[in-house]
Amino acid sequence: MTDPAGAGPRFPLWQISRLRMATDGHGVTALVGSYGCPLNCKYCINPDSHGSGGNYRLVTPEELLELVKIDDLYYLATGGGIMFGGGEPLLHAAFIAAFRRIAPKEWNFYAETSLCVPETMLAAAAGSIDHFYVDVKDTDASIFERYTGVNVASSVLRNLSALLKLTGPDRVTVRLPLIPGFNTPEDVARSKALLSGSGVVNFDCFRYRT
Ligand code: SF4
Repeated sequence: MTDPAGAGPRFPLWQISRLRMATDGHGVTALVGSYGCPLNCKYCINPDSHGSGGNYRLVTPEELLELVKIDDLYYLATGGGIMFGGGEPLLHAAFIAAFRRIAPKEWNFYAETSLCVPETMLAAAAGSIDHFYVDVKDTDASIFERYTGVNVASSVLRNLSALLKLTGPDRVTVRLPLIPGFNTPEDVARSKALLSGSGVVNFDCFRYRT
């Protein structure tokens, strides 16, 4: 998103969750949530982050920095930083790149993403995010569509391959959830084998609580 005056990218901020530990990323992180998501997962963990009539505000990189630098000492002491989540944060890769340029160099940057974004966003994201948590859901196109309501599994997998080429495997963790009513442990194992063959080395396999 760009503001009407053309002053640069703005971010649809709907949530900041401070002082997170032992969730994802390293050290203490602030979760910065963007509004808007192209998917419609049946067990969405952040249903307030998308849909019509959303509760968010557009912020500039400088405004976001003001909001999150309050915990600078915690980020520095623990090797933590900022986790961009959603919604789908990589739709705002240009904003994230602009924010990283003005943020302290010692902060680490993470993103939770479905990779359901235009491929053109990936280079900017790879240049500004240290580690990606990619929620692939399931590699089977029909399971993916049934669960998310959108038929985009093949483009998500293409984006994952493109991201791995940009970052190398160490900077990507793929999440493969067991989704009750939608896939089975055998489906998760099949997805893991497929993605291992495509160069993924870090997996997070777990069961959704419904
Ligand atoms: S990708 Fe995430 S934010 Fe989007 S619908 Fe699915 S769970 Fe919700």
